[in-house]
Amino acid sequence: MSRSISAVCRNITPSATLRLNAIVNEKRAQGLDIIGMGAGEPDFPTPAAICAAAKQAIDTGKTKYTAANGIPELRKAVGAHVNRLYGLTYGPNEVIIGTGAKQVLMEALIAILDPGDEVILPAPCWLSYPEMIRMAGGVPAMVLTTAQQGFLPSMQALSDAITPRTKAILINTPNNPTGAVWGENLLREVAQLAVQHDLFIISDEIYETLVFSGARHVPIATLGDEVFERTITISGWSKAYAMTGWRLGYALGPKDVINAMGAYQSHATGNPNSIAQYAALEALQGPQDSVEDMRLAFERRRDLMLELSSGIPGIACAPPQGAFYVLMNIQGLVGKRYQGQEIRNDEDFTELLLEHKLVSVVSGTPFCAPNCVRLSYAIADDTIREAMRRIAEFVKELT
Ligand code: PLP
Repeated sequence: MSRSISAVCRNITPSATLRLNAIVNEKRAQGLDIIGMGAGEPDFPTPAAICAAAKQAIDTGKTKYTAANGIPELRKAVGAHVNRLYGLTYGPNEVIIGTGAKQVLMEALIAILDPGDEVILPAPCWLSYPEMIRMAGGVPAMVLTTAQQGFLPSMQALSDAITPRTKAILINTPNNPTGAVWGENLLREVAQLAVQHDLFIISDEIYETLVFSGARHVPIATLGDEVFERTITISGWSKAYAMTGWRLGYALGPKDVINAMGAYQSHATGNPNSIAQYAALEALQGPQDSVEDMRLAFERRRDLMLELSSGIPGIACAPPQGAFYVLMNIQGLVGKRYQGQEIRNDEDFTELLLEHKLVSVVSGTPFCAPNCVRLSYAIADDTIREAMRRIAEFVKELT
């Protein structure tokens, strides 16, 4: 035996977005005027009533271990919330609260995958999915989509990806990084495919409240009993309630899966933060105005981004219908040079833009979107204007 790092950990690619955040913070600490368009979090503060509930939880001693799968009143409140919004019915044993959507997603994969099991993964996709699938012992089976397809997979491509080892399909609507929102017809077809091949569906709906231009979010679990009983829905408070740092998320699904996730969680981390759980209870049960206010602000900023980017030659943005990202295609700039340095790909573009114009964006490659960069518009309108001015200036100075 040697004191070597395990194969699982050796093969993990650390999160590119978190790495970028660290670089941006370092540059800011040096006093540089960096515009960060890389972060995947709302710029708004957590609404005051939610913060007050957390303070009250501290003052009333709600600071001890809770049930490992979350306090019963919060699990019940999540059930009531999705019942009110979508007419779905989940009992308290079909809900688990965890440390962010990220944790419950990881646990869902661990709960259902055996080594070598395959998960169909439409892409571009959130960069954590392939890593998480591999960390759980599975194999991601990517189904690539293009801007021309509206970043929606064809049914042919999805069914071609199915093998005897396929265990699940992982969907994400509204999508990070493309902003695509899957329509009901496509979801019905995907559901049918999953039923036909007896697959689990993991549906990451963390951006569910952020849909624009009249687009509607349809939870796939609402599309019939056979779909409901095989779907694990992932969501949480991070994006809808501007609570990214509180680290709380939930999963809904079949009792046996939720139980297995709970058993794992009970040993891996124990309960999610007790104070955050009481804050989350207030988020679901208190006034919902701030959710709509934030949605409206994001819609306005999306329109601003699209308007300002449309005048920049060599780049193209597919209009997103949800979430708070624009995936910008920079293919038209590949081969050009900035002060003699060639842009060979999205990573070069990202580095040169940060270096020379102090705008941080995320390269598309880790999201399976080569020659694209992801821009988050979860920043103030004036900051968006300044960022797009700098990007336009950067492009103009290319030779
Ligand atoms: N799912 C997607 C698609 C995301 O983009 C993110 C965060 O960026 C998450 C899940 C994680 O959310 P949470 O902060 O609740 O862990």
